Amino acid sequence: MTKSIDVRNPRTGKFDYVIIPPPPKLLAQLCNRLRRSQVRWQQLSVEERIEALQEWKQAILSGRDRLTEALVNDTGRLSISEMEIDSFISSIDRWCRLAPELLQESAKNTAIPFIALQQTAVPYSLVGVISPWNFPLLLSTIDAIPALLAGCAVVVKPSEIAPRFVAPLMTALNAVPKLRDVFTFIEGAGETGAALIEYVDLVCFTGSVATGRKVAEVAAKKFIPVFLELGGKDPAIVLESTNLDLATSAILWGAVVNTGQSCLSIERIYVAESIFDKFVDQLVTKAQKLKLAHPTLETGELGPIIAEKQAAIISDHLLDALDKGAVIHCGGKVEELGGGWWCRPTVLTQVNHSMKVMTDETFGPIMPIMPFANVEEAIHLANDSIYGLSAAVFAGSEELALEVAQQIDAGGISINDAALTAIMHEGEKNSFKFSGLGGSRMGPAALKRFMRKKAFLIKTNSANDPWWFDN
Ligand code: NAD
Repeated sequence: MTKSIDVRNPRTGKFDYVIIPPPPKLLAQLCNRLRRSQVRWQQLSVEERIEALQEWKQAILSGRDRLTEALVNDTGRLSISEMEIDSFISSIDRWCRLAPELLQESAKNTAIPFIALQQTAVPYSLVGVISPWNFPLLLSTIDAIPALLAGCAVVVKPSEIAPRFVAPLMTALNAVPKLRDVFTFIEGAGETGAALIEYVDLVCFTGSVATGRKVAEVAAKKFIPVFLELGGKDPAIVLESTNLDLATSAILWGAVVNTGQSCLSIERIYVAESIFDKFVDQLVTKAQKLKLAHPTLETGELGPIIAEKQAAIISDHLLDALDKGAVIHCGGKVEELGGGWWCRPTVLTQVNHSMKVMTDETFGPIMPIMPFANVEEAIHLANDSIYGLSAAVFAGSEELALEVAQQIDAGGISINDAALTAIMHEGEKNSFKFSGLGGSRMGPAALKRFMRKKAFLIKTNSANDPWWFDN
């Protein structure tokens, strides 16, 4: 028997749900079964695979209330859970629309007139997806959907911290036998994630740098591709010419939506010193208007801190900053309400890069702001990080902002807006530095990650090739 895992409810602090990881033998059998079924799945036309995904989508929509309830219990938030479901549904539709063209095979002429080239691609058999707790539904399916359309079988191991959403998804999956044979979710913690890697041909991992490194090491030993989407410490640069009202509204959203529990949250703000005080005043005024979604889900905009371990990290970063001279303008502490952990939008000044709040991932609604004297200094500060996930640049003109953005070491940069990669998944981008490894999970390239290319080199004449031996 494997040991069951008790799951904490982020609003009440009570352990009111249990998951049971599959015993090792069962996991092996499950992966073998999926691998066998993948052969037929790959032989289906892309239109037939689309049909199966659309049937799953319909089954999910008809049980949407159960899925919403499960996600609310997983995360303690309502409107973001609704948004998460909408975004998941639209990503099924988007990939179903794009897949037929992306999976088209092509024949090409070559430099040698009597050799034709036929280019094709074959899917990896079994893909393993390991995902975090902050957007449980979205991040466990973001790679799975294109992988399935490419013709792979997929096993998802979501986070043990927010696993309730799996049950309604599995109920919907059971209504689509064709898809159920090649797609499943397993419950469990790190041990189960590590065990899964042993059975798959490709890994998509979303989570922390520390775990990502472990996953990459195992994948390297097995010579299997691994796509890592890891942490961030996204900077926002605000130049003197910026529309301050727009910048403060965008940055507030980008920093505190989902209580700051997003890899692409704005976690550091650099503001031109000539507008620093005005910027701080406006941001604080707007931040103070946001409320906690406590005692009811509808009371305010900010849900609880989902993972208890994260509440401790946020507190630690705040205490470290205060200890080193930071000044709090609003918010400023992690508090316990009704058994859950909560944090109000927090604005800090008098911060510097000796503080954890400016260097380590905080994953909370914390906005530390530093002034800069010139653009070179702003770029230097923004790049002074082990992370390179995304960033934001605000300026009076698009040209000026783009000029700065080009010098920032990050994959997705919002111009005169913040955290746009959360909303728009069309643009291809890589994670720089310790924020990740591997091809883009967004845009058309995302689907192609799941295929191995094959070239058929076809001789089209019956004469000897000029480079053969002369006999
Ligand atoms: P985590 O690394 O603790 O866990 C992520 C997943 O890995 C979980 O499912 C966990 O059970 C599993 N796991 C743990 N040990 C494992 C092992 N040895 N082998 C295989 N799997 C293992 O991360 P978390 O706390 O769940 O998530 C928060 C982190 O995720 C933050 O750093 C955040 O920035 C990052 N994140 C990144 C993105 C992105 O797209 N770049 C998106 C969301 C979250």
